[in-house]
Amino acid sequence: MPEIDATERRERLTELWKQASVCTRCQQLAENRTKVVFGVGNGDGDLMSIGEAPGGNENKQGLPLVGQAATLLGKLLEEIGLKRDDVFIANVLKCRPPNNRDPLPKEIENCQSYLFSQLELIQPRLVCTLGNFSTKLLRNDNATGISKLHGQEEVRTIGPRTVRLYPIYHPAAALYATATLETLREDFRRIPDLLALDPPPQLEPMPDLDDILAEQADDVTQGGKVAEAGEVNEKGDTKPDQLGLF
Ligand code: URA
Repeated sequence: MPEIDATERRERLTELWKQASVCTRCQQLAENRTKVVFGVGNGDGDLMSIGEAPGGNENKQGLPLVGQAATLLGKLLEEIGLKRDDVFIANVLKCRPPNNRDPLPKEIENCQSYLFSQLELIQPRLVCTLGNFSTKLLRNDNATGISKLHGQEEVRTIGPRTVRLYPIYHPAAALYATATLETLREDFRRIPDLLALDPPPQLEPMPDLDDILAEQADDVTQGGKVAEAGEVNEKGDTKPDQLGLF
């Protein structure tokens, strides 16, 4: 996306939220939800955290990560000098799967453009994936889990945005497991240093296919006539036998 200012990014994020809040891409989820859980927090923030999917309370309140896990997240953020409001919190799925079952591949596919657009519009410096689910999805690697990956940052391109990804344990997994909580706390301590790094460079946007085709059409047209294969046009180019699409 070409550079756009904070006001426009916020407007587009609001527009995206409006679209998501009436989404019917997954019939079962749309029919069973109370509220779409788009995400909450600082839309200009440097830190974004991504969980799995709304649970029962989140579905009722329309907010991600409420309850004990949220309280723990707030405490861990406070310990490193941040507040929950500094972070944008979202999930891979915006609607609750019935009975909190695992999200289905088709549901993830249906929902992922919302997450990709959120990353593109919020432009966080650091993205913490919380637990196995979002880590596997955003790293596009189903085989490597959070116990191996936690605390190791890496640069990844997710949809249109290149981000610094930082997998950590899900706070819910640390609620009753002291060792996991200590590991999570240690991983949290690195967040300020990671936020201080320069953001990773963005990839050049892909040229629009329509623009390429229009340019090629210009190249092979001379004075309103389409050049024959092998003819040389006014720029001195020879028309290819076939448009170079592949
Ligand atoms: N609630 C959420 O919103 N996300 C999770 O990952 C778990 C519970």
